[in-house]
Order: sequence, then C-alpha cells, then structure tokens
Amino acid sequence: MAASGKVASFRLPPLPTIGEVIKLYNLRAEKQLSQNFLLDMKLIDKLVRQAGSLKGAHVCEVGPGPGGLTRSILNAGAKDLLVVEKDTRFIPGLKLLSEAAPGRLRIIHGDILTYRMDRGFPLNITKPWEHDPPNLHIIGNLPFSVATPLIIKWLESMANRTGPFMYGRTRLTLTFQKEVAERLTASTGSRQRSRLSIMAQYLCTVRSCFTIPGRAFVPKPEVDVGVVHFTPLVQPQIQQPFKLVEKVVRNIFQFRRKYCRKGIEMLFPEACRLELAEEMMRRADVDPTLRPTELTIPHVRALADAYAHLCTKEPSLITYEFREELRLKHLDVLILTSDPTHIAP
Ligand code: SAM
Repeated sequence: MAASGKVASFRLPPLPTIGEVIKLYNLRAEKQLSQNFLLDMKLIDKLVRQAGSLKGAHVCEVGPGPGGLTRSILNAGAKDLLVVEKDTRFIPGLKLLSEAAPGRLRIIHGDILTYRMDRGFPLNITKPWEHDPPNLHIIGNLPFSVATPLIIKWLESMANRTGPFMYGRTRLTLTFQKEVAERLTASTGSRQRSRLSIMAQYLCTVRSCFTIPGRAFVPKPEVDVGVVHFTPLVQPQIQQPFKLVEKVVRNIFQFRRKYCRKGIEMLFPEACRLELAEEMMRRADVDPTLRPTELTIPHVRALADAYAHLCTKEPSLITYEFREELRLKHLDVLILTSDPTHIAP
C-alpha cells in the first residue's frame, strides 16, 4: 500500500537498543545532573504521541541523553529534529542516530536555558499567531531542576512572542515532577492551585497527559513524573504585561492560606496600603475574603487590570516590592544595632 510505504520511509534502520547504547558509550547517569533515562520504547512512543502528528514536523528535543525520545520522534516522521544536549558524553551516540537518519537530525551541544531557539529553525515555517500552530514542536524529558525554570522562561517568551514563539503558537510536550505537573493543570479551588497554575493557564491550554511511574526510569527517581502538553492561546486570558501579571499573582499567593486581601495589600507601600488595596478589589469586583486558591482566571484578570489602572495613576507603584522594603528595614535595624555610637532608646 502506498500509504504504509510512506510511513515505512520515516523509520530508522535497525539500531542497538538504548540499553546497548548506554553500555556501548559508557553513559552512566550522572546523579549531579539528575539524569534519569527512559528505556521502554512503548512508553517513550506514548509520550511522543502526546505531541500530536509529527509527520513532516520540525521538532526541538531538549535533553535527548541516550536518545530514546529522539528515535521515537524520528520514527514518528519528523523531518527536522534539532536536539539540545548539555552533556558531551551523549554526542557520539546521537551522531550514530544522525547517520541512521541522514539530514534529519541536528545536534547542538549546549544549554537549553540559554540556547537561542529563535535562530534554530527556518523562518518560512512561521504561522501568524491567530492561525493554527506552526508545524514546530518542543518535546523533552528534562531534569526537574531545569524543567520548572524553563517553563517559566518559556511562558514569558510566549507572552512576548519571542524565542520559540516567534514562529507562532509552538506546542510543547514536557515532563515534570508529578507535583509540578499537578500544579500546572490545577483548577480553581483545588489543593494544588498555585502561582504556576494561573501563569500557565492564562496563556495556554494546558493538558495533563499521563503519569509515568518513577520505576520506569533508570535510575529510578524519588517521585513519579507527569507529562504535560501546552498549546498557546490565540488570545491570552489576561491582557497585561507578563511581568505585571507575575507580580500580582506572586503577591496574592505569598499568603496562600489567608484571604486574598492579605497578598493584595502587599502590592502597595505601607502609607497607602489599605486604601489602595481596597480600591483595587472594589474596581476588580473581587470578594476580599476569597482564598488565593479560589480565584479564577477572570478574577485575576480583573485584579491585574485594576492594578495596572492604579499604576497608571501612580507610576512609582510598579517598582514597589514589599519584600525589598522589608529587606531595607531589616538592614536599617542591623546598621543601627551594630553602630557603637547608637544609644538604644
Ligand atoms: N531524554 C532522555 C531520556 O528520556 O532518557 C534523557 C533524560 S534525562 C532526565 C535529562 C537529559 O537532559 C540529560 O541527557 C541531561 O544531560 C540533559 N540536560 C540537563 N540539563 C540540560 C540543559 N540545561 N540543557 C540541555 N540538556 C540538559
């Protein structure tokens, strides 16, 4: 059949298994780099399928390691796969794969936290933001310590349409420590609702795909792993700058068990704290006795809009940081108490 002939042409020739590659190149997992490998190709294929069809796609894989996901992505029909790997030990094994898939695999030895993805792909794959997403995907099984700062960085890039989002609404399929995956997808009122839930959900459709038990990894991590898929929204649910939204959400959630009023007050200097917090909540029509976890995205949108309005009236508010004020006060006390000429009252 012509169709199956086409599919067959994507497939890689027979290769050593991932386990054999690990042995062949002596790729012992580095505990310091939190390396945990997936060897079960069925499970890997399931993870990669969460990205959707990859036929003819451009893909960036973050942290390919011994190359399990890399093989699966190539077998799924990606025509251009760019892998970014920090640990040089994996490069020879990846080169073996690249020879098996001529012209389809580009290997970058680098750090995904600094890699300029806006230069990684041809500009002609770009789709206007309002259109369907471009045929570009980001897929990765990264160490937990990298996955969280990375998604925060990418959410900001998404809001500003920079980096990987310069090409349009690039989709992401990534793994996280299960607890973080739950926070990313948590709905209003749930125990896991957090800063991360709001920041991710105001910008994307976030889908929890499935959980990979810790025992599926070599070596086994302490926790289970959640696979999460992100599709940027055409219209973010909050229309304020990312940094402003981040500040409002961070302040609200710093007292997550208290009424939301408490965190909102901290957006303002002491002298005008109660008055402006009151005005912000009245303007947003948000009940001050809701807990942070009970706030919906429309609530946060109304609060961010009200805060932006107050900042337009009084521009110095935008740079005010309650924690910075506390730090300076603390410093003053330290200087005064360590000054031998200072006489305590
Ligand atoms: N993808 C492989 C798998 O699923 O078996 C390896 C997963 S292992 C959890 C994470 C991989 O990411 C390792 O290969 C590690 O060297 C790589 N890595 C860690 N930090 C990185 C960074 N900042 N940039 C690029 N790669 C990184």
